[in-house]
Amino acid sequence: PDLFAPERRNSRGWDLTAPDHLAEIDAARMPHRNAQFEAGPMLAVSPSPAEARPVMNPANPADQVGIVHPASEADVAAAMQAAVPWGADDAERARVLNRAADLYEQHFGEIFALLSREAGKTVADGVAELREAVDFLTYYAARIPELGGSPLGRVVCISPWNFPLAIFTGQIAAGLAAGNAVLAKPAEQTTLIAALATRLLHEAGVPQSALQLLPGSGAVGGALTSHPDVAGVAFTGSTATARKIQAALAEHARPGTPLIAETGGLNAMIVDSTALPEQAVRDLMQSAFQSAGQRCSACRCLYVQEDIAEGFITMLKGAMDAFSVGDPWLYSTDSGPLIDGVAHEGISAHVAAAEAEGRLLHRAKAPETAPFLAPALIKVNGIGDIGREIFGPVLHVATFKAADLDRVIDAINGTGYGLTFGLHTRIDDRVQHVTDRIHAGNIYVNRNQIGAIVGSQPFGGEGLSGTGPKAGGPLYLPRFRTPVDTPAPQ
Ligand code: GLU
Repeated sequence: PDLFAPERRNSRGWDLTAPDHLAEIDAARMPHRNAQFEAGPMLAVSPSPAEARPVMNPANPADQVGIVHPASEADVAAAMQAAVPWGADDAERARVLNRAADLYEQHFGEIFALLSREAGKTVADGVAELREAVDFLTYYAARIPELGGSPLGRVVCISPWNFPLAIFTGQIAAGLAAGNAVLAKPAEQTTLIAALATRLLHEAGVPQSALQLLPGSGAVGGALTSHPDVAGVAFTGSTATARKIQAALAEHARPGTPLIAETGGLNAMIVDSTALPEQAVRDLMQSAFQSAGQRCSACRCLYVQEDIAEGFITMLKGAMDAFSVGDPWLYSTDSGPLIDGVAHEGISAHVAAAEAEGRLLHRAKAPETAPFLAPALIKVNGIGDIGREIFGPVLHVATFKAADLDRVIDAINGTGYGLTFGLHTRIDDRVQHVTDRIHAGNIYVNRNQIGAIVGSQPFGGEGLSGTGPKAGGPLYLPRFRTPVDTPAPQ
């Protein structure tokens, strides 16, 4: 049983206020500051990839990070054929996943450098992301003894660019912990990070036939999910793509093939007149603007009680002005750029439309070159006015009268999404009242509403936000196994 390392400590993390930690990070990431990376299909057979494309740093158009060779259609077919569920016994799979966690931690310099150069992540975000990835590996490894049933077979994992290491690793670690063969299709924008992670997993001892990487656009994901041999899919991304995957599975896969989809959100925070304004502003700044708002958990709409709204919004504007948007490599930066020009264009258009309608309450100062975007505050009458998820540093704000609290709750539930929700109040009864009624997977009271922790805060939504089960929770792994009639041992 000690093979499952229950006493294993959490990922070590770094203290970004400690000069010796900063020096350690700098020394480790410097060799990768200008290094050139290359990635392509990593298959159990020889690949025949498509033509390579360059990868550019979103924060610096002069910085080429490397090149990527996307997988071809032939690669998808070959990988499916070569895939073999991981035959190692439970103890060995746990050991290998824990070894991978150690390798991830040892390679922190390269990982932080790539997270910054390829994904535009700040060091603080990079530290949190590495910890989360490591925690997924050790958490799922530790759950292996509870498993019932048997592996599903070939599992496809399709991951997003906004957590290119953590979510990529979490899906794969779960698929592998459950003994499947994983075919991973990372987001096109962050293939180099995915390739580094895959290399470390192989180095730890995951066989090539149990884990193959198929980089490419949505077309590669489409080919994978329409393959008749797919036995399960884990997907994080848009609700629209989740629907396409579901349709593909319905058409091509065996009936009942599981899909775990974690999709978008229209997340709200309610701040009532008893909230501590300094704390609520700080938590809101993190929830709305950290990672340039590129988290599906991010707060998109603030409901602030009318009685305190004016002072609260003034304080919020001040915090926005003090928030620094710029080069994510620098420790002084609070948020880096948007992931690319396409994202910048769409979100800028949303802000410009609000400005034209006289609803732009505030715009912080920031480099105005794409894909950097200054945090924006937009007035709305309610969350329904936002229309769609704006995946960037844009916070919408509505005010409410105390008597209308239930209407606010109805409006939030009425979006059909239900991912995260935040509440700031010092009235205990109100906490009970609101949290009893809000439909959201992750509810946060008197704190920020991002950054769920593996194991203690399983993450996932309901309604349009996802299928469940929550990632980093006890119900996730069983979905990667065949159903069992008897409950797994505790
Ligand atoms: N798990 C992340 C968080 O709690 C969000 C994941 C996502 O954006 O997909 O902030």
